[in-house]
Amino acid sequence: MTTAQPEQIAIIGGGFSGTMTAVNLARLSRQPLEITIINQRRPTARGVAYGTRRMEHLLNVAARNMSAFPDLPDHFLQWLRTRSEYDMVPEMELRERFIPRMIYGDYLRGLMQQYLQSPMESAPVRTTFVEGEALDITPNGDGATIRLAVGGRVEAERIVLATGNEPPAGLPGSEALQAHAAWVGNPWQGWENRLPQSGGTVVLLGTGLTTVDAVITLRSMGWQGVVHAVSRNGWLPHAHFRGIEYPDFPPPGIDLADLGLKKLLELMEQHCARLRELGANPAIIVDKMRPHTQRVWQRFTLEERLEFAQRHAARWNVLRHRIAPEIHAQLTTAQLTGQLQVHAGRIEGVKAEGNRVRVQLSGGKALTGDLVINATGPNTKFTATSSVLLQNLLRRGLVTPDETEMGVRVDADHTIIGRDGERSSLFLALGPLLRGTRWETIAVPELRGQARRTAEALLDQPRPVAVEEPVMMEYMI
Ligand SMILES: Cc1cc2nc3c(=O)[nH]c(=O)nc-3n(C[C@H](O)[C@H](O)[C@H](O)COP(=O)(O)OP(=O)(O)OC[C@H]3O[C@@H](n4cnc5c(N)ncnc54)[C@H](O)[C@@H]3O)c2cc1C
Repeated sequence: MTTAQPEQIAIIGGGFSGTMTAVNLARLSRQPLEITIINQRRPTARGVAYGTRRMEHLLNVAARNMSAFPDLPDHFLQWLRTRSEYDMVPEMELRERFIPRMIYGDYLRGLMQQYLQSPMESAPVRTTFVEGEALDITPNGDGATIRLAVGGRVEAERIVLATGNEPPAGLPGSEALQAHAAWVGNPWQGWENRLPQSGGTVVLLGTGLTTVDAVITLRSMGWQGVVHAVSRNGWLPHAHFRGIEYPDFPPPGIDLADLGLKKLLELMEQHCARLRELGANPAIIVDKMRPHTQRVWQRFTLEERLEFAQRHAARWNVLRHRIAPEIHAQLTTAQLTGQLQVHAGRIEGVKAEGNRVRVQLSGGKALTGDLVINATGPNTKFTATSSVLLQNLLRRGLVTPDETEMGVRVDADHTIIGRDGERSSLFLALGPLLRGTRWETIAVPELRGQARRTAEALLDQPRPVAVEEPVMMEYMI
């Protein structure tokens, strides 16, 4: 059965996910559509990740795996060839390069320009860009009205939620620090102009990718002070590495999704041990899991998902979210010179100490900083969202948390399931909001497939949803 084509589509969030949903709509639609992209704070298309103005911030995925289109795997590589600094780089080398994120943002802006801002006269899709925050949505007979913080409203028949990562969750005591000059609650909002002039101490709460970004920023500014980074385990991300062919995983005839968490972990440990014996990096197993991760996650029981998130996610993340070797080398240098000091410890609380902030750690240890940055990673408890829009949608029952409460509940084709358990006729969602149902839903290799599938669902062009997009390995062979 075919349904009528939607005419007015609003996309809330104009990062990679929202912009590429619109680009795919423009590529695929044969019907007239009016798309409105509502985006706050960040330059549309670049979003948080690719809005950086620092060439030192590199992609953490090799160029060969950063095409914005699932059906055109070399698209980004071909685009890079249009730039003079890359046109003479040998193919094999270019494929493995970690390109500045700012340049990747240029790529996305180019796609936005081509498909959304200057489409051909005959193209059926028209796009309007609205800068500002969407605050609330009220359904009406045929669609809904979106209320904007800047005043004004947008009417739509279908709405895509592509609001991206949440800022980090607060920490004990951080409420009282909101106005303190030495406290940075959201690491993705500029803090560079709040650094002490000469020397001093910066404390980074977290040792993941956001901390890596901050350290690279401080070094590229030539800032001379000391940086402390602290997390429960004190693990910094690993570097990408040159791997080996390892066809033994998954073992032939075994469907990883059938195993359940316990047996899967045992199998992974077994193969990690074998790789260590071969003198190879066991993280190869994490990479080889990637084409299967979403299916495995979906087959886990709720208890298995929660156990994985609580007990194994930290180790998974440190092996999975690797960084460019040149960025890793800078971290190592910073550690060797004593500029970067990494600590393992539980953060018990933060409080003002004059014009500085004191971080209390377990075991009686404390760190005091002239600037303390919450880099603990995005808040993953959806019901504690700081987004006014999402709070309103939850309150109205228009969206509902998935079983793990990490994100929204969606069907396989990205349609939101409301509080009544029914498929929404209004809402779809993609990106980090799908963490609880998909687990791997943060990086371009997953998001490009989601953007295409969301566009197909909006256009009523369903594909067999069991087909998972193959994810290319991230290590270099
Ligand atoms: C620092 C950093 C580096 C990264 N590096 C890489 C990398 O190298 N490779 C990779 O594959 N992935 C990387 N990622 C992962 C990255 O999250 C994804 O690649 C992708 O950019 C996510 O896009 P998104 O559109 O889902 O979210 P976002 O980029 O967060 O975009 C969401 C947008 O929605 C807006 N928004 C939210 N709520 C509202 C509202 N109510 N009204 C209006 N607008 C709203 C936000 O302001 C934002 O502009 C990185 C992430 C970060 C944070």
